[in-house]
Amino acid sequence: MESAATDAELDSLVQDAIVWASQHGLVVGLGGTAPPAALIHAPLSLLPVAFPASRFQQAKAAMTTFNTLIDRVAADEGYLFDTLELAGQQDDFTGRLLQLLQDSKPARAAAAAAAGAKEVVLGVHRSDYMLDAPSGGFLQVELNTIASSFACLSSITSQLHHYTLQRLAAASSSSSSSDAAAAALQLLSASRLPSNAALQGICRALAAAVVAAGGPGAVMVMVVQPGERNAYDQQWLQHTLWTEHGIVTRRLTLAQIPDCLQLQPDAAGAGSRLVFADSGTPVGLVYFRLVHHVVADSGTPVGLVYFRAGYTPNDYPTDKEWQARALIEASTAAKCPTVAYQLAGSKKVQQDLAAPGVVERFMGQQQGADLRQLFAGLWSLDNITEPTTAAVIQDAIQNPDRFVLKPQREGGGNNLYGPELSAALQQGLAAGGDSLAAFILMQRIVPPPQRSVFVRGGAWGEDESLSELGIYGTFLRVGDEVVINEEVGHLVRTKTSSSNEGGVAAGFAVLDSPLLSEPGEGLLPPQLDGSSGSTAAAAAAASWGESGGVLAAARALLQQQQQQQQQQQQ
Ligand code: ADP
Ligand code: MG
Repeated sequence: MESAATDAELDSLVQDAIVWASQHGLVVGLGGTAPPAALIHAPLSLLPVAFPASRFQQAKAAMTTFNTLIDRVAADEGYLFDTLELAGQQDDFTGRLLQLLQDSKPARAAAAAAAGAKEVVLGVHRSDYMLDAPSGGFLQVELNTIASSFACLSSITSQLHHYTLQRLAAASSSSSSSDAAAAALQLLSASRLPSNAALQGICRALAAAVVAAGGPGAVMVMVVQPGERNAYDQQWLQHTLWTEHGIVTRRLTLAQIPDCLQLQPDAAGAGSRLVFADSGTPVGLVYFRLVHHVVADSGTPVGLVYFRAGYTPNDYPTDKEWQARALIEASTAAKCPTVAYQLAGSKKVQQDLAAPGVVERFMGQQQGADLRQLFAGLWSLDNITEPTTAAVIQDAIQNPDRFVLKPQREGGGNNLYGPELSAALQQGLAAGGDSLAAFILMQRIVPPPQRSVFVRGGAWGEDESLSELGIYGTFLRVGDEVVINEEVGHLVRTKTSSSNEGGVAAGFAVLDSPLLSEPGEGLLPPQLDGSSGSTAAAAAAASWGESGGVLAAARALLQQQQQQQQQQQQ
């Protein structure tokens, strides 16, 4: 059988990819009982996944508009309070964030009033999408405004796929190529991999925010979770911030911040500059995954507080972590994100923006319409007696596989699907319905399956796969001036088609990258190949898994390589 014959060649490519990944910093902490410094290659897909070029460009083009949308929504605090009020009553975490937004108003106003002070707001966002096979649409899953991860490892994954495609091409570059191999060579050209400079783009924005808010000598504080396994994705930012911008990063957990940082009067006497606390205070710096106790320079200004933690209630086990948030909000340091930005990225706000007229109110008709094309069906569960809500709840209970039920949570593993979704809705109704305001209902997006080689923990396997595209955006506003509004790169995460959730850190998905393709080339799944509907297309769909797509093309090249080797041996 062809696939068995090429498994040995595939295995050899996998082994090379694993070594390449480790040698180029495409790594995560080993975790478990391993020593804190133990590393392993990140979960990865051996080859890129086919993606329609037009959809990729559409998502890129929308990013700067999404950046602006978040800034406008976050600035409209009345809108945030109104939209999130009921969710905040049912969900403590959302309620606490809203409370912080409310309580910090006087301190924020005082900071803004300090002489010469301009609010510095940094957004580092990632907007996630999936192709929807049934409708042929391309739909947003969510927009992350806090702790959007994997920009750095994703940039390296793009390079890895450059390497694996070139290895494949080199293996089969022969004048005696079969037709199939020649076609595969063209389909798998590395020139189809879009460049991905998310790492550099995000560092540019981080550096500009540090300087704008903190001036020369200011540092960035990265707020991290204790024992973070994905610290190497973060370390790439720190490293690049230092080598390309000369800016130092201090890693602190939320619990460490109230002891390590303090507000200091500025030249005009306003007490809102965020600085490292008095000299002699031992500051626990979480370096890689180890904790080193060092003494930070007292008075060192903090230009930017960049959160890679703080998005889940688990990050706030005590009041101390909330004190940290309040301290940061009250300061003139740039925040990525502010509490308002964090709330603007909540699932409830995502749902509300999709309601008739809302995104248009913030962005105007034209840009509103552009963004709306990307919105999936989203429904509020705030008022169960409202006829549309009552009807969609019944529909979801009867047809749970067409919906996803989402709480106000980030970080993966929180959504409800299938029977659990029905049960949760029924329980919510039985209890009077109020508790459902903490959730939103979303249309289930059904991406077309492809086939991928999943490489995890040094082992590999081929499986049917579904992919999710993320686009990174950076936005820096100083006072009223928008200094940066850019789309900076992308991420593809691929999961086995049997898994509902898609997080890499959560263990569901692998890092991947897009191989851009046009309809009709045979690389895309038939549902996206511009030929669906015909009988021929149905037949093509049935056999596509075996004969079409990136992996089949790669196997054609490997088979050619194998035949050449056999001929040479004869
Ligand atoms: P989180 O904030 O936890 O990352 P997401 O909304 O991104 O929440 O959902 C997590 C994962 O669940 C996504 O990465 C995706 O794989 C899957 N998912 C989320 N929404 C949908 C949807 N509407 N249709 C299908 N799958 C979804
Ligand atoms: Mg997500």
